[in-house]
This record gives sequence, structure tokens and C-alpha cells, in this order.
Amino acid sequence: MIYDDSNIFAKILRGEIPCNKIYEDDFVLSFHDINPQKKIHALVIPKGKYVDLDDFSMNASPEEMVGLLKGINIVAKKLEISSDTGKGYRALTNIGEYGGQEVPHLHFHLFGGEGVGKMVE
Ligand code: 5GP
Repeated sequence: MIYDDSNIFAKILRGEIPCNKIYEDDFVLSFHDINPQKKIHALVIPKGKYVDLDDFSMNASPEEMVGLLKGINIVAKKLEISSDTGKGYRALTNIGEYGGQEVPHLHFHLFGGEGVGKMVE
């Protein structure tokens, strides 16, 4: 899998394009989606260069894997949508063409703040 350094999230990570930041640590950056599909629509991306979840699963270090999962939980808590701080949410990642992935840098969508509806329309 070849990672394209010119993708929009790579530019956000490099600080070339602004984002509405929610959280950042050594492993992840989280920011609000520019075109929210629900009341809360956050994105959580790893800092490493991974195209999608398959690339990440095959090539990321254990520390990066833990960092991403922990990051999702930290962001959900910050937004008060986690199962302990709120009413829950949906975490989703699109993979490749049939998965409907537009930006080729792994990202999890966190949808919440209201009921998010059926899983697949
Ligand atoms: P995908 O379809 O790849 O799973 O999702 C890409 C997401 O990135 C979309 O929800 C889209 O609105 C969001 N997005 C695209 N460009 C930008 C941007 O420049 N800034 C932010 N914050 N979100 C973006």
C-alpha cells in the first residue's frame, strides 16, 4: 500500500491546513469533521502514515495500535459521548473503494450527540 503524502489529513498533521482540534497526543490527532453528518462528528486519526485499517493492522506497532484505541476513548470522553460519560456513539472507519473511503489516511469517524440511526443505509 503506497501512502500519498499529499492527502488532506497529512496536510492537517503537518499543520499546512487548519483543523478544529479536539485532542492530540503522541499517537493521534482528533478534530471535528468539516461536513458533520450528526450533531457530533469527530475524526480520530493516527499520526503514523497508514492508508486504512488494513494497512494499520498489518504494519503499525503495538504501541500505535493501543494509542489509537485509547485515543478514540479519550476523545469520546472529552465529547461526553462515551458509554460512561454520555449516551454512546458510533465509531466507523471506511476502507477502500467499496467502503466509501475518500481520504487515504486511516481515520475513525465518531458520530454522536443524538441517535445515529441504522448502521447501513
Ligand atoms: P471518508 O469518506 O474518507 O471516510 O471520510 C472523509 C471525511 O473527511 C469526510 O467526512 C469529510 O467531510 C472529512 N473531510 C474532508 N476534508 C476535510 C478537511 O479539510 N477538514 C476536516 N476537518 N474534515 C475533512
